[in-house]
Amino acid sequence: MNLENVLDLDRGDPLAAKRGEFALPDNVVYLDGNSLGAMPLAAQQRSLHVVEQQWGRDLIQSWNSHDWIDLPITVGEKIAPLLGAARGQVICCDSTSVNLFKSLCCALGMQKDRRLVLSQTDNFPADLYIAQGLNNLSPGEICKLEVIDDSEIEARLDETVAVLMLTHVNFRSGKLHDIRRLTERAHEKGALVIWDLAHSTGALPLELDDWGVDFAVGCGYKYLNGGPGAPAFIYAAERHHASIRQPLTGWMGHQKPFSFSGEYQPAPGVQQFLCGTPPVLSMSVLDAALGVFEGVDMDELRAKSMGLSELFIQLCQSNKHLRELILVSPQNSHDRGSQLAFAHPSAYAICQALIERGVIADFRAPDILRIGLAPLYLRYKDIWDAVQILAEIMMTRCYLQDQYSRPQKVT
Ligand SMILES: *Cc1c(COP(=O)(O)O)cnc(C)c1O
Repeated sequence: MNLENVLDLDRGDPLAAKRGEFALPDNVVYLDGNSLGAMPLAAQQRSLHVVEQQWGRDLIQSWNSHDWIDLPITVGEKIAPLLGAARGQVICCDSTSVNLFKSLCCALGMQKDRRLVLSQTDNFPADLYIAQGLNNLSPGEICKLEVIDDSEIEARLDETVAVLMLTHVNFRSGKLHDIRRLTERAHEKGALVIWDLAHSTGALPLELDDWGVDFAVGCGYKYLNGGPGAPAFIYAAERHHASIRQPLTGWMGHQKPFSFSGEYQPAPGVQQFLCGTPPVLSMSVLDAALGVFEGVDMDELRAKSMGLSELFIQLCQSNKHLRELILVSPQNSHDRGSQLAFAHPSAYAICQALIERGVIADFRAPDILRIGLAPLYLRYKDIWDAVQILAEIMMTRCYLQDQYSRPQKVT
């Protein structure tokens, strides 16, 4: 593999033009789109429009005249095709963590005598914290969390499990679960499933309806490029809509919020997952950002994501300076999401040295250098450049300099 081959890959890339829809600084290779997606130009324009024209000029009328009030639904329906969800099952609201809380309560409420929530030891910790917090409300009575190694999940699924709660793409290793298979196994035992799609949505094809998923949650600011702290989404299969009882019964999930009646009456369908007033600025930005997915074939996007990661691995393997970085993601690209994880005792410092040289990756404790591959705006040439810079850092061992090991709040 030489530079000319790599440039050929870019010339043959059916998604190449998408990069032009993003604002990206020069001389930066952005390998962190799995943590914070890059900014679509349309998002920037919308933010100005919402602030200046809608809020600034049209003031409160905008709730009606600019359809602010319907944003959670509008945005939910834009996310739905990326999930393989028919209309009426996805709504945009709150954060992933809060949506997980609501869906977990909901799923547990649908189970008569089962309290056991099964998850995996190395799930995203926040997801486990949410289940722990729910348990603490009334220990043992609402929810009992059990975490096990991911290799034991299928064998552990039995008639005592109320809810199987997993993250599709492991946040550290990138290892992928087979949603269809695990959902089927869970259903055979009468368990419900909640999938966290934080690292999958917008990065690989999803078929939630076909796979029979019960509930799912996911993130607006990662591969959906909705901007820092963008609101999240929640999916609930239509067959469960009559059984939804979520605990955060706020007025926006009321059938008629503006009747101001003293009694809560849930809105129909997924709308009852709403709680308070939607964050209009950030939801509008996410709405505009989702425009970049128009016309994108998710199989093509997945193929490019695999191509980028395979190139990264291949270039690493052919460079002797990179041998000490141990790939902890699955070798086969079909078994991982759109990211790579390399273990190294100095991963944090290596990551800082990369960032200083314009290659933005991230670090996950204790020893993982994480490389996010957002196929809409990364070029194969970017991978080439990143690996060259990484090789130089490893060869010169410049990461051993003090300045690279200074801890920061966010890694
Ligand atoms: C990023 C991420 C979240 C984020 O949750 P927030 O409530 O937005 O902080 C949740 N779950 C997983 C698996 C994630 O990777």
